[in-house]
Amino acid sequence: MNILLIGSGGREHALAWAIVNSPLTGRLHVAPGNAGIADEAICVALDTSDPSAVIAYCRDHEIGLVVVGPEGPLVAGLVDELTDAGIKAFGPRKAPASLEGSKGFTKDLCARAAIPTAAYGRFTDAAAAKAYIAKVGAPIVVKADGLAAGKGVVVAMTEAEALAAVDACFDGEFGAAGAEVVVEEFLEGEEASLFVLSDGRNVLPLASAQDHKRVGEGDTGPNTGGMGAYSPAPVMTPELTERAMREIVEPTVATLASEGTPFVGVLYAGLMMTKDGPKLIEYNVRFGDPECQVLMMRLKDDIVTLMLACIDGTLDKVGARWRDEVALTVVLAANGYPGVYDKGTVIHGLEALEGDPALKVFHAGTRRDEDGRLLANGGRVLNVTALGRTVAEARERAYAAIERIDWPEGFCRRDIGWRAVAREDG
Ligand code: ATP
Repeated sequence: MNILLIGSGGREHALAWAIVNSPLTGRLHVAPGNAGIADEAICVALDTSDPSAVIAYCRDHEIGLVVVGPEGPLVAGLVDELTDAGIKAFGPRKAPASLEGSKGFTKDLCARAAIPTAAYGRFTDAAAAKAYIAKVGAPIVVKADGLAAGKGVVVAMTEAEALAAVDACFDGEFGAAGAEVVVEEFLEGEEASLFVLSDGRNVLPLASAQDHKRVGEGDTGPNTGGMGAYSPAPVMTPELTERAMREIVEPTVATLASEGTPFVGVLYAGLMMTKDGPKLIEYNVRFGDPECQVLMMRLKDDIVTLMLACIDGTLDKVGARWRDEVALTVVLAANGYPGVYDKGTVIHGLEALEGDPALKVFHAGTRRDEDGRLLANGGRVLNVTALGRTVAEARERAYAAIERIDWPEGFCRRDIGWRAVAREDG
Protein backbone atom coordinates (compact mmCIF):
# COMPACT_ATOMS: atom_id res chain seq x y z
CA MET A 1 0.00 0.00 0.00
CA ASN A 2 1.28 3.48 -0.81
CA ILE A 3 1.19 5.87 2.14
CA LEU A 4 1.22 9.66 2.34
CA LEU A 5 2.62 11.19 5.54
CA ILE A 6 2.03 14.87 6.23
CA GLY A 7 4.60 16.95 8.12
CA SER A 8 8.24 18.01 8.17
CA GLY A 9 9.60 17.64 11.70
CA GLY A 10 11.57 15.12 13.72
CA ARG A 11 8.26 13.47 14.58
CA GLU A 12 7.58 12.84 10.91
CA HIS A 13 11.11 11.52 10.31
CA ALA A 14 10.55 9.01 13.12
CA LEU A 15 7.15 8.07 11.70
CA ALA A 16 8.60 7.77 8.19
CA TRP A 17 11.37 5.51 9.50
CA ALA A 18 8.82 3.27 11.24
CA ILE A 19 6.41 3.28 8.28
CA VAL A 20 9.05 2.27 5.68
CA ASN A 21 9.98 -0.66 7.92
CA SER A 22 6.43 -1.99 7.69
CA PRO A 23 5.82 -4.98 5.40
CA LEU A 24 2.54 -3.29 4.45
CA THR A 25 4.20 -0.20 2.99
CA GLY A 26 4.67 0.13 -0.74
CA ARG A 27 5.93 3.61 -1.47
CA LEU A 28 6.00 6.25 1.22
CA HIS A 29 5.35 9.84 0.11
CA VAL A 30 5.91 12.68 2.58
CA ALA A 31 4.63 16.25 2.24
CA PRO A 32 6.79 18.26 2.60
CA GLY A 33 9.38 16.20 4.54
CA ASN A 34 13.00 17.21 5.17
CA ALA A 35 16.51 16.09 4.18
CA GLY A 36 16.50 13.07 6.51
CA ILE A 37 13.06 11.96 5.36
CA ALA A 38 14.21 12.29 1.75
CA ASP A 39 16.66 9.43 2.43
CA GLU A 40 13.75 7.14 3.35
CA ALA A 41 10.84 8.33 1.20
CA ILE A 42 9.63 10.49 -1.69
CA CYS A 43 9.27 14.11 -0.53
CA VAL A 44 6.66 16.23 -2.27
CA ALA A 45 5.66 19.88 -2.10
CA LEU A 46 1.91 19.73 -1.55
CA ASP A 47 -0.40 22.37 -0.08
CA THR A 48 -1.72 20.32 2.83
CA SER A 49 -4.05 23.16 3.86
CA ASP A 50 -5.96 22.47 0.61
CA PRO A 51 -7.88 19.19 1.04
CA SER A 52 -8.75 18.98 -2.65
CA ALA A 53 -5.03 19.09 -3.55
CA VAL A 54 -4.31 16.30 -1.05
CA ILE A 55 -7.20 14.19 -2.37
CA ALA A 56 -6.05 14.69 -5.98
CA TYR A 57 -2.50 13.67 -5.03
CA CYS A 58 -3.80 10.55 -3.29
CA ARG A 59 -5.80 9.55 -6.38
CA ASP A 60 -2.86 10.20 -8.73
CA HIS A 61 -0.44 8.14 -6.62
CA GLU A 62 -2.75 5.36 -5.44
CA ILE A 63 -2.37 6.31 -1.79
CA GLY A 64 -4.14 3.83 0.49
CA LEU A 65 -3.43 5.57 3.78
CA VAL A 66 -2.75 9.17 4.82
CA VAL A 67 -0.99 9.76 8.14
CA VAL A 68 -1.33 13.29 9.51
CA GLY A 69 1.59 14.26 11.77
CA PRO A 70 0.85 17.79 13.09
CA GLU A 71 -2.26 19.16 14.80
CA GLY A 72 -2.99 22.00 12.34
CA PRO A 73 -4.53 19.91 9.54
CA LEU A 74 -6.38 17.71 12.08
CA VAL A 75 -8.02 20.68 13.78
CA ALA A 76 -8.80 22.13 10.33
CA GLY A 77 -10.68 18.93 9.38
CA LEU A 78 -8.40 17.28 6.81
CA VAL A 79 -9.30 13.78 8.04
CA ASP A 80 -13.02 14.49 7.53
CA GLU A 81 -12.38 15.52 3.92
CA LEU A 82 -10.18 12.51 3.16
CA THR A 83 -12.49 10.01 4.85
CA ASP A 84 -15.52 11.43 3.10
CA ALA A 85 -13.63 11.08 -0.20
CA GLY A 86 -13.08 7.37 0.56
CA ILE A 87 -9.39 7.69 1.50
CA LYS A 88 -8.24 6.11 4.76
CA ALA A 89 -6.66 8.66 7.06
CA PHE A 90 -5.02 8.20 10.45
CA GLY A 91 -5.94 10.91 12.93
CA PRO A 92 -9.12 12.31 14.48
CA ARG A 93 -11.83 14.16 12.63
CA LYS A 94 -12.29 17.87 13.29
CA ALA A 95 -14.87 17.54 16.09
CA PRO A 96 -12.84 15.25 18.40
CA ALA A 97 -9.63 17.13 17.43
CA SER A 98 -11.15 19.94 19.53
CA LEU A 99 -9.52 18.11 22.46
CA GLU A 100 -6.41 19.96 21.31
CA GLY A 101 -8.03 22.77 19.32
CA SER A 102 -9.99 24.18 22.25
CA LYS A 103 -8.85 23.97 25.87
CA GLY A 104 -12.32 25.05 26.99
CA PHE A 105 -13.86 22.12 25.06
CA THR A 106 -11.59 19.70 26.92
CA LYS A 107 -12.28 21.26 30.30
CA ASP A 108 -16.04 21.04 29.74
CA LEU A 109 -15.69 17.41 28.66
CA CYS A 110 -13.72 16.68 31.85
CA ALA A 111 -16.50 18.31 33.87
CA ARG A 112 -19.21 16.22 32.11
CA ALA A 113 -17.28 12.96 32.63
CA ALA A 114 -15.89 13.74 36.13
CA ILE A 115 -12.29 13.47 34.87
CA PRO A 116 -9.67 14.73 37.34
CA THR A 117 -8.26 18.05 36.12
CA ALA A 118 -7.58 21.56 37.46
CA ALA A 119 -10.65 23.61 38.50
CA TYR A 120 -11.31 26.24 35.81
CA GLY A 121 -13.36 29.03 34.33
CA ARG A 122 -13.95 29.91 30.63
CA PHE A 123 -14.16 33.59 29.70
CA THR A 124 -14.83 35.70 26.63
CA ASP A 125 -14.29 39.03 28.38
CA ALA A 126 -11.42 40.37 30.46
CA ALA A 127 -13.46 41.71 33.37
CA ALA A 128 -15.01 38.33 34.19
CA ALA A 129 -11.63 36.55 33.86
CA LYS A 130 -10.03 39.11 36.18
CA ALA A 131 -12.79 38.76 38.75
CA TYR A 132 -12.21 34.97 38.76
CA ILE A 133 -8.46 35.51 39.25
CA ALA A 134 -9.12 37.93 42.13
CA LYS A 135 -11.38 35.34 43.76
CA VAL A 136 -9.00 32.35 43.38
CA GLY A 137 -5.66 34.16 43.81
CA ALA A 138 -2.15 33.18 42.61
CA PRO A 139 -0.47 30.95 41.63
CA ILE A 140 -2.90 30.46 38.77
CA VAL A 141 -2.72 29.49 35.10
CA VAL A 142 -4.04 31.56 32.16
CA LYS A 143 -4.47 29.90 28.76
CA ALA A 144 -5.53 31.06 25.32
CA ASP A 145 -8.32 28.67 24.29
CA GLY A 146 -7.06 27.78 20.80
CA LEU A 147 -3.85 26.59 19.14
CA ALA A 148 -0.94 28.89 20.00
CA ALA A 149 2.08 26.67 19.28
CA GLY A 150 2.78 26.11 22.98
CA LYS A 151 3.01 29.86 23.67
CA GLY A 152 -0.53 30.51 24.84
CA VAL A 153 -0.05 29.38 28.44
CA VAL A 154 1.12 31.56 31.34
CA VAL A 155 1.78 29.90 34.68
CA ALA A 156 1.39 33.04 36.81
CA MET A 157 3.06 33.12 40.19
CA THR A 158 1.45 36.48 41.03
CA GLU A 159 -2.00 37.92 40.45
CA ALA A 160 -0.45 40.83 38.49
CA GLU A 161 1.13 38.38 36.03
CA ALA A 162 -2.19 36.59 35.59
CA LEU A 163 -4.04 39.85 34.93
CA ALA A 164 -1.40 40.88 32.37
CA ALA A 165 -1.77 37.49 30.66
CA VAL A 166 -5.54 38.02 30.39
CA ASP A 167 -4.99 41.44 28.80
CA ALA A 168 -2.41 40.05 26.37
CA CYS A 169 -4.86 37.37 25.24
CA PHE A 170 -7.79 39.72 24.73
CA ASP A 171 -5.49 42.31 23.09
CA GLY A 172 -4.95 39.76 20.34
CA GLU A 173 -1.49 38.39 21.11
CA PHE A 174 -2.64 34.95 19.92
CA GLY A 175 -5.15 36.15 17.33
CA ALA A 176 -8.37 34.12 17.16
CA ALA A 177 -6.85 31.48 19.51
CA GLY A 178 -7.08 34.04 22.31
CA ALA A 179 -10.68 35.17 21.76
CA GLU A 180 -11.55 32.94 24.69
CA VAL A 181 -9.47 32.41 27.83
CA VAL A 182 -9.36 29.49 30.23
CA VAL A 183 -8.20 30.29 33.76
CA GLU A 184 -7.31 27.30 35.89
CA GLU A 185 -6.06 26.11 39.22
CA PHE A 186 -2.29 25.68 39.54
CA LEU A 187 -1.40 21.98 39.88
CA GLU A 188 1.71 20.82 41.70
CA GLY A 189 3.62 17.67 40.87
CA GLU A 190 5.80 16.02 38.23
CA GLU A 191 4.59 16.05 34.64
CA ALA A 192 4.53 13.07 32.30
CA SER A 193 2.86 12.18 29.03
CA LEU A 194 0.84 9.09 28.24
CA PHE A 195 0.28 8.06 24.62
CA VAL A 196 -2.62 5.83 23.60
CA LEU A 197 -4.28 4.74 20.38
CA SER A 198 -8.03 4.71 19.96
CA ASP A 199 -10.31 3.33 17.26
CA GLY A 200 -13.19 5.35 18.64
CA ARG A 201 -14.29 2.65 21.06
CA ASN A 202 -11.23 0.61 22.13
CA VAL A 203 -8.15 2.13 23.69
CA LEU A 204 -4.64 0.71 23.47
CA PRO A 205 -2.05 2.24 25.80
CA LEU A 206 1.25 2.82 23.99
CA ALA A 207 3.92 4.20 26.31
CA SER A 208 4.81 7.06 28.60
CA ALA A 209 7.40 9.78 28.08
CA GLN A 210 8.75 12.95 29.63
CA ASP A 211 10.06 15.95 27.76
CA HIS A 212 12.07 19.10 28.46
CA LYS A 213 10.22 22.17 27.21
CA ARG A 214 12.55 24.93 28.43
CA VAL A 215 15.62 25.95 26.45
CA GLY A 216 17.98 26.17 29.45
CA GLU A 217 19.62 23.56 31.64
CA GLY A 218 17.77 22.73 34.84
CA ASP A 219 14.51 23.43 32.93
CA THR A 220 14.97 27.21 32.92
CA GLY A 221 14.50 29.96 30.33
CA PRO A 222 11.93 30.37 27.57
CA ASN A 223 9.66 27.58 26.34
CA THR A 224 10.51 25.72 23.15
CA GLY A 225 8.90 23.02 21.04
CA GLY A 226 10.89 20.57 23.20
CA MET A 227 14.65 20.13 23.74
CA GLY A 228 14.66 16.41 24.50
CA ALA A 229 12.59 13.50 25.78
CA TYR A 230 12.82 9.96 27.07
CA SER A 231 10.53 6.96 27.34
CA PRO A 232 9.34 5.38 29.52
CA ALA A 233 8.76 8.05 32.18
CA PRO A 234 9.92 6.56 35.49
CA VAL A 235 7.30 8.59 37.39
CA MET A 236 4.52 6.74 35.51
CA THR A 237 4.45 3.52 37.50
CA PRO A 238 2.17 0.73 36.23
CA GLU A 239 -0.30 1.69 39.00
CA LEU A 240 -0.38 5.37 37.97
CA THR A 241 -0.68 4.41 34.30
CA GLU A 242 -3.60 2.11 35.08
CA ARG A 243 -5.25 4.88 37.10
CA ALA A 244 -4.73 7.48 34.37
CA MET A 245 -6.24 5.10 31.83
CA ARG A 246 -9.26 4.34 34.01
CA GLU A 247 -9.93 7.82 35.39
CA ILE A 248 -8.85 10.03 32.47
CA VAL A 249 -8.31 8.43 29.06
CA GLU A 250 -11.07 5.79 28.98
CA PRO A 251 -13.86 8.16 30.11
CA THR A 252 -12.68 10.70 27.52
CA VAL A 253 -12.90 8.20 24.67
CA ALA A 254 -16.22 6.81 25.97
CA THR A 255 -17.74 10.29 26.32
CA LEU A 256 -16.73 11.32 22.80
CA ALA A 257 -18.13 8.07 21.40
CA SER A 258 -21.42 8.47 23.27
CA GLU A 259 -21.75 12.01 21.91
CA GLY A 260 -21.36 10.85 18.31
CA THR A 261 -17.83 12.20 17.78
CA PRO A 262 -15.59 9.14 18.31
CA PHE A 263 -11.87 9.75 18.63
CA VAL A 264 -9.74 7.81 16.15
CA GLY A 265 -5.99 8.28 16.24
CA VAL A 266 -3.27 8.87 18.79
CA LEU A 267 -4.24 10.66 21.96
CA TYR A 268 -1.48 12.26 23.98
CA ALA A 269 -2.44 13.05 27.56
CA GLY A 270 -0.31 15.63 29.37
CA LEU A 271 -0.63 14.65 33.03
CA MET A 272 0.38 16.08 36.38
CA MET A 273 1.16 13.52 39.09
CA THR A 274 -0.38 15.36 42.03
CA LYS A 275 -0.61 14.12 45.59
CA ASP A 276 -4.20 13.17 44.78
CA GLY A 277 -3.17 11.11 41.73
CA PRO A 278 -2.88 11.88 38.02
CA LYS A 279 -4.74 14.93 36.73
CA LEU A 280 -5.16 16.00 33.11
CA ILE A 281 -3.27 19.15 32.07
CA GLU A 282 -3.99 18.95 28.37
CA TYR A 283 -4.69 16.70 25.44
CA ASN A 284 -2.92 16.65 22.13
CA VAL A 285 -4.46 14.73 19.26
CA ARG A 286 -1.24 13.55 17.60
CA PHE A 287 2.20 12.25 18.54
CA GLY A 288 4.46 14.63 20.43
CA ASP A 289 7.62 16.03 18.91
CA PRO A 290 10.21 14.92 20.18
CA GLU A 291 8.32 12.21 22.14
CA CYS A 292 7.41 10.36 18.94
CA GLN A 293 11.11 9.83 18.24
CA VAL A 294 11.66 7.90 21.48
CA LEU A 295 8.40 5.99 21.08
CA MET A 296 9.23 4.82 17.55
CA MET A 297 12.71 3.79 18.72
CA ARG A 298 11.11 1.50 21.33
CA LEU A 299 8.19 0.13 19.32
CA LYS A 300 8.71 -3.49 18.25
CA ASP A 301 5.42 -3.93 16.40
CA ASP A 302 4.35 -2.59 13.05
CA ILE A 303 3.07 0.98 13.24
CA VAL A 304 1.05 0.68 10.01
CA THR A 305 -0.87 -2.33 11.36
CA LEU A 306 -1.68 -0.32 14.48
CA MET A 307 -2.82 2.72 12.49
CA LEU A 308 -5.05 0.61 10.23
CA ALA A 309 -6.56 -1.11 13.29
CA CYS A 310 -7.55 2.34 14.59
CA ILE A 311 -9.22 3.28 11.31
CA ASP A 312 -10.91 -0.12 10.86
CA GLY A 313 -12.18 -0.30 14.46
CA THR A 314 -10.20 -3.45 15.27
CA LEU A 315 -7.82 -2.16 17.91
CA ASP A 316 -8.99 -4.88 20.30
CA LYS A 317 -7.45 -7.46 17.95
CA VAL A 318 -3.89 -6.07 18.03
CA GLY A 319 -1.28 -5.23 20.65
CA ALA A 320 1.86 -3.13 20.84
CA ARG A 321 5.11 -4.56 22.19
CA TRP A 322 7.95 -2.38 23.36
CA ARG A 323 11.67 -2.82 23.82
CA ASP A 324 12.66 -3.04 27.46
CA GLU A 325 15.35 -0.45 26.85
CA VAL A 326 14.93 3.23 27.54
CA ALA A 327 15.06 5.60 24.58
CA LEU A 328 16.29 9.16 24.94
CA THR A 329 16.52 11.93 22.39
CA VAL A 330 18.52 15.15 22.53
CA VAL A 331 17.48 18.03 20.27
CA LEU A 332 20.20 19.96 18.46
CA ALA A 333 18.94 23.46 17.74
CA ALA A 334 20.32 26.47 15.87
CA ASN A 335 22.12 29.00 18.10
CA GLY A 336 19.58 31.64 19.17
CA TYR A 337 16.56 29.29 19.16
CA PRO A 338 13.78 29.80 20.36
CA GLY A 339 14.56 33.45 19.51
CA VAL A 340 16.22 34.61 16.31
CA TYR A 341 18.52 32.12 14.57
CA ASP A 342 20.29 31.64 11.23
CA LYS A 343 19.32 29.14 8.57
CA GLY A 344 21.67 27.67 5.99
CA THR A 345 24.65 26.71 8.19
CA VAL A 346 26.42 23.48 7.17
CA ILE A 347 26.28 20.27 9.22
CA HIS A 348 28.94 17.54 8.90
CA GLY A 349 29.59 14.19 10.48
CA LEU A 350 26.25 12.38 10.35
CA GLU A 351 27.39 9.62 7.95
CA ALA A 352 29.81 8.27 10.56
CA LEU A 353 26.90 7.71 12.95
CA GLU A 354 24.98 5.38 10.64
CA GLY A 355 24.75 1.63 11.17
CA ASP A 356 24.45 1.53 14.98
CA PRO A 357 21.08 -0.09 15.85
CA ALA A 358 21.08 1.65 19.24
CA LEU A 359 21.37 5.10 17.67
CA LYS A 360 19.34 7.08 15.16
CA VAL A 361 19.62 10.72 14.15
CA PHE A 362 16.18 11.99 13.16
CA HIS A 363 16.11 15.19 11.14
CA ALA A 364 13.80 18.11 11.91
CA GLY A 365 14.68 21.43 10.17
CA THR A 366 17.18 20.27 7.53
CA ARG A 367 17.58 20.48 3.75
CA ARG A 368 20.26 19.68 1.19
CA ASP A 369 21.76 22.24 -1.18
CA GLU A 370 22.55 21.62 -4.86
CA ASP A 371 25.92 20.13 -3.87
CA GLY A 372 24.30 17.66 -1.50
CA ARG A 373 25.55 19.43 1.62
CA LEU A 374 23.31 19.14 4.67
CA LEU A 375 22.05 22.55 5.87
CA ALA A 376 20.16 23.68 8.97
CA ASN A 377 16.73 24.89 7.88
CA GLY A 378 14.86 25.62 11.12
CA GLY A 379 15.12 26.17 14.87
CA ARG A 380 15.12 22.56 15.98
CA VAL A 381 17.37 20.75 13.52
CA LEU A 382 18.42 17.22 14.61
CA ASN A 383 17.18 14.73 17.19
CA VAL A 384 19.96 12.42 18.33
CA THR A 385 18.13 9.38 19.69
CA ALA A 386 19.65 6.43 21.54
CA LEU A 387 18.60 3.24 23.31
CA GLY A 388 20.15 2.06 26.57
CA ARG A 389 19.49 -0.29 29.48
CA THR A 390 19.10 2.80 31.66
CA VAL A 391 18.38 6.46 31.04
CA ALA A 392 21.99 7.16 31.97
CA GLU A 393 23.27 4.72 29.34
CA ALA A 394 20.96 6.03 26.59
CA ARG A 395 22.00 9.55 27.48
CA GLU A 396 25.71 8.73 27.36
CA ARG A 397 25.26 7.21 23.90
CA ALA A 398 23.34 10.22 22.61
CA TYR A 399 25.88 12.74 23.89
CA ALA A 400 28.82 10.66 22.60
CA ALA A 401 27.20 10.80 19.14
CA ILE A 402 26.65 14.55 19.43
CA GLU A 403 30.38 15.01 20.08
CA ARG A 404 30.98 13.57 16.62
CA ILE A 405 28.60 15.96 14.83
CA ASP A 406 30.37 18.97 13.39
CA TRP A 407 27.95 21.91 13.55
CA PRO A 408 29.44 24.94 15.35
CA GLU A 409 26.24 26.96 14.81
CA GLY A 410 24.13 24.53 16.84
CA PHE A 411 23.64 23.78 20.52
CA CYS A 412 21.87 21.32 22.79
CA ARG A 413 20.95 21.02 26.44
CA ARG A 414 23.50 18.91 28.28
CA ASP A 415 21.12 17.63 30.96
CA ILE A 416 18.33 15.80 29.10
CA GLY A 417 16.89 13.13 31.40
CA TRP A 418 18.31 14.64 34.59
CA ARG A 419 15.26 13.85 36.68
CA ALA A 420 15.20 10.22 35.57
CA VAL A 421 18.97 9.82 36.00
CA ALA A 422 18.71 11.23 39.54
CA ARG A 423 15.99 8.63 40.24
CA GLU A 424 18.23 5.85 38.88
CA ASP A 425 21.08 7.09 41.10
CA GLY A 426 18.62 6.73 44.00
P1 ATP B 1 2.39 22.64 24.82
O1 ATP B 1 2.49 22.95 23.39
O2 ATP B 1 3.62 22.93 25.61
O3 ATP B 1 1.81 21.30 25.11
P2 ATP B 1 0.01 24.07 25.36
O4 ATP B 1 -0.04 25.45 24.84
O5 ATP B 1 -0.79 23.06 24.69
O6 ATP B 1 1.47 23.70 25.49
P3 ATP B 1 -0.47 23.22 28.16
O7 ATP B 1 0.20 21.92 27.95
O8 ATP B 1 -1.87 23.26 28.62
O9 ATP B 1 -0.37 24.17 26.92
O10 ATP B 1 0.45 24.02 29.18
C1 ATP B 1 1.84 24.20 28.94
C2 ATP B 1 2.62 23.91 30.21
O11 ATP B 1 2.17 24.79 31.27
C3 ATP B 1 2.40 22.51 30.77
O12 ATP B 1 3.26 21.59 30.18
C4 ATP B 1 2.66 22.72 32.25
O13 ATP B 1 4.04 22.70 32.53
C5 ATP B 1 2.15 24.11 32.50
N1 ATP B 1 0.76 24.04 33.02
C6 ATP B 1 -0.37 24.03 32.27
N2 ATP B 1 -1.46 23.96 33.05
C7 ATP B 1 -1.03 23.91 34.33
C8 ATP B 1 -1.67 23.83 35.61
N3 ATP B 1 -2.99 23.82 35.72
N4 ATP B 1 -0.88 23.82 36.71
C9 ATP B 1 0.47 23.88 36.62
N5 ATP B 1 1.12 23.95 35.45
C10 ATP B 1 0.40 23.96 34.31
